[in-house]
Amino acid sequence: LSKERGKNNFQFYTPNLNEAYLRKIDLETRLRKAMEHRQLTLHYQPQFHLETGKIVGIEALIRWNHPELGTIPPCEFIPLAEETGLIVKLGQWIILKAIQQNKQWQQAGFPLLPIAVNVSVKQLQEEHFIDFIEKALEDTGLNAHYLELEITESIMQDVDQSIERLNALKALGLKIAIDDFGTGYSSLNYLQYLPIDYIKIDKTFIDNIIDKDTCGSIVTSIISMAQSLNFDVIAEGIENEKQVQYLIENQCKVGQGYYYSKPLPSQEIENLLKKQYK
Ligand code: C2E
Ligand code: MG
Ligand code: MG
Ligand code: MG
Repeated sequence: LSKERGKNNFQFYTPNLNEAYLRKIDLETRLRKAMEHRQLTLHYQPQFHLETGKIVGIEALIRWNHPELGTIPPCEFIPLAEETGLIVKLGQWIILKAIQQNKQWQQAGFPLLPIAVNVSVKQLQEEHFIDFIEKALEDTGLNAHYLELEITESIMQDVDQSIERLNALKALGLKIAIDDFGTGYSSLNYLQYLPIDYIKIDKTFIDNIIDKDTCGSIVTSIISMAQSLNFDVIAEGIENEKQVQYLIENQCKVGQGYYYSKPLPSQEIENLLKKQYK
């Protein structure tokens, strides 16, 4: 390390940055291993019809259980997987796993529910993405109607390509949601051209829906805009009853959040479903 510090090009790096870099490389190696050693699992967060409290959908969220480091949250490794290109392989694993799980639930006699899978823009742009989805649906026999893909506003970076891709995906019969809506930089103007089914209102707006008038009006504006564009709305990160009431009063039909349920392992989802639909 002392040798490196002597080099001119390293003068620009603070020890901290250097550490961060090493940590990243280390994490990448570990992530590759994690994929090989089955340290990755999916958890599932149910989505609820707010008025009836019925489960109407389930979002798959990845978890990395590292034997020494414990549970590493997706916000730490998904961006890294995107940077390194690992996201393509990782994303395929996630999609296949989620589709298989949903098919299994259906075969076991649980009610037919859509499963929502997060997809990063890198995945969407990948050449074989659409073929992969089509094949995964064929192989598992899951009706495309029960698959939803969640993408973020970052798809706006290349609107034309994204619209083309989303149309091809929609042609398979699945549904598309815009995740974390309101936090990106999407031009509202383009929204009308996107072939999407849902808008997910980001948790940051739901957090302050009651205490801050501004958040309340942002949420009601998003809802009425969605209505006029014919999109459905899902509220993210609901943590209390007051938020539920506010959302119901303002025509938001569906939501998810710790108030209802944290993301859970598949077994616990089954218990929830059994209780609700017995
Ligand atoms: P997201 O898709 O917007 O997921 C919502 C995040 O908020 C999840 O965190 C969820 O556990 C958390 N959450 C849900 N309800 C509440 C609540 O009431 N309160 C609080 N404080 N948090 C709540 P998680 O699982 O850590 O995921 C974070 C992000 O990582 C996701 O945001 C998504 O962007 C990304 N991600 C997770 N799984 C995947 C995946 O399989 N593929 C890809 N590409 N990205 C993923
Ligand atoms: Mg999501
Ligand atoms: Mg979100
Ligand atoms: Mg997010």
